[in-house]
Amino acid sequence: MSNNPSPLRVRPVRAFADNYIWLIEAPKDPRRVVAVDPGEAAPVLAELERLGASLAAILLTHHHADHIGGVAALRAATDLPVFGPDDARIPDLTRRLSDGDTVVLDSLGLQFTTLHVPGHTLSHIAFHGHGAVFCGDTLFSAGCGRLFEGTPEQMDASLRRLGGLPAETRVYAGHEYTAANLHFALEVERDNADAGAYRARVAELRAGDLPTLPSTIGLENRVNPFLRCREPAVRAAVAAHDGRALGDSVAVFAGLRAWKDGFRP
Ligand SMILES: [Zn+2]
Repeated sequence: MSNNPSPLRVRPVRAFADNYIWLIEAPKDPRRVVAVDPGEAAPVLAELERLGASLAAILLTHHHADHIGGVAALRAATDLPVFGPDDARIPDLTRRLSDGDTVVLDSLGLQFTTLHVPGHTLSHIAFHGHGAVFCGDTLFSAGCGRLFEGTPEQMDASLRRLGGLPAETRVYAGHEYTAANLHFALEVERDNADAGAYRARVAELRAGDLPTLPSTIGLENRVNPFLRCREPAVRAAVAAHDGRALGDSVAVFAGLRAWKDGFRP
């Protein structure tokens, strides 16, 4: 399955102010879909009706309510399998996943590998397969999640892991934050031509009310300052902002995250 050349068909469903619930079409049956992080049930049910499709499984990246809030209602209609991190804060799980575990949905033609990516929360996971990664609130386009539970060291390691996936891997993150993230990215790296070009493209998409996602790992490695803590320009910018010399790349990451937390454009 991993050498299946045709890309997944994935649709965004908007929820709350800026969440995306991703609906993955089953390669073996386009009328069956898998939902990633359904924070709300109603928009998922509306999209299923519009598509004439039914929900076959749910994948969860982390325990925050805006990612799991719709699970109970979606399961009320059908007894769906629910895959997520091994975390007591998530009810309704039918399978608890650890790093390296595989989710095989044979009848759908889908298979994903679990990556444990702590930082935003301690048990956060990502699902990798079919040339795509569903990474919740760990990696955003041109940014990353806030550190609610993990350490800078953990988040830096998690992001490096995601950044090490093949360049063409499509990145399906949990929120539409790209425009604001790029604003900060260009504050950090004013001379990053890729980030500048991406900002123009993102402005165009947002003007048309279109999603900026999926991104790709290759693009993120060129524009996302949180994946670029080893770049001299990023280190220099954080050091200048903090007014002090920085130690290792984790210190650069920690300084960058704190800078972004207080950043008001
Ligand atoms: Zn979250």
